[in-house]
Amino acid sequence: MRILITGVAGFLGSHLADRFLAEGHSVIGMDNLITGNIRNIAHLAGRDDFLFIKHDVTNYIYIDGPLDAVLHFASPASPIDYLRYPIQTLKVGALGTHNALGVAMKKDARFLLASTSEVYGDPLEHPQKETYVGHVDAIGPRGVYDEAKRFAEAMTMAYHRAHQVDTRIVRIFNTYGPRMRLDDGRVVPNFIGQALRGEQLTVYGDGTQTRSFCYVSDLIEGIYRLLMTDFHDPVNLGNPTEMNIIEFARLVNQLTQNPAGITFQEQARIAGDPQQRQPDITRARQLLGWEPRVSLPEGLEMTIRYFRKLV
Ligand code: UDP
Repeated sequence: MRILITGVAGFLGSHLADRFLAEGHSVIGMDNLITGNIRNIAHLAGRDDFLFIKHDVTNYIYIDGPLDAVLHFASPASPIDYLRYPIQTLKVGALGTHNALGVAMKKDARFLLASTSEVYGDPLEHPQKETYVGHVDAIGPRGVYDEAKRFAEAMTMAYHRAHQVDTRIVRIFNTYGPRMRLDDGRVVPNFIGQALRGEQLTVYGDGTQTRSFCYVSDLIEGIYRLLMTDFHDPVNLGNPTEMNIIEFARLVNQLTQNPAGITFQEQARIAGDPQQRQPDITRARQLLGWEPRVSLPEGLEMTIRYFRKLV
């Protein structure tokens, strides 16, 4: 297959490029590099099955030649990134998704949208099934991301229904691993960076909020399988092992042997920060025969090893 990946220099985009190239496909990668990092794809430079195009997908996308699949992964994805780039976040979810769908339709390619557990907002149903319609504050600080992705899902289903585009939607829950930006502000790089510098880990709020962390190789496997199905409704992918942020901080300190402990930053928790989050992955299990294999301590060890070289 010849595949277009938007957001190819990002954390997930770059791992997807590696996976599809390893399977013998060829990849065209696009990124405007506002939150992506060119170093994530530096090892692909010079390959004749990989082409990088620096482009902002909120503008018209032109691709020469045929395409078999479009994977739309371009978007800021960390709360501090989308607070820094609120308009770009809305535009890439809306205009970027429209353009990416347009290319898929023109090339008769299948399309996969990177959506998010944020479409559930601060959920009132727990764990979250794909049928849950969410609890989102459109005008809160996280609204720019949540609503962009909700619009992106609506646009994807509209292209599927109106133009018969062969679409998929993956709702990605918290995922971590090598190639996250150390300064992207999310809890995994923040805590590991702080721990490796021997600092206290900054727990926002009272730390009772929960998350469920999935290692990147598990997520990539699920996305690969989803692209190979012909299922059009959204599919949750994530690791259902849930813990609160205090427990998570303790685990990071334990694995890094950081004696500095934790510090509570009550004010740092932004409005609408979900109190609990855990994917119900029944659909992915049944449809894809998929489930996460990498435990949190194993995945964190691999991630810590990566960040050690950067701190
Ligand atoms: N968080 C924290 N300390 C940090 C960064 C984040 O306690 O240094 C919390 C944050 O308030 C949220 C959770 O960790 O409740 C996960 O945050 P992240 O930014 O990783 O992504 P989210 O899941 O909120 O999109």
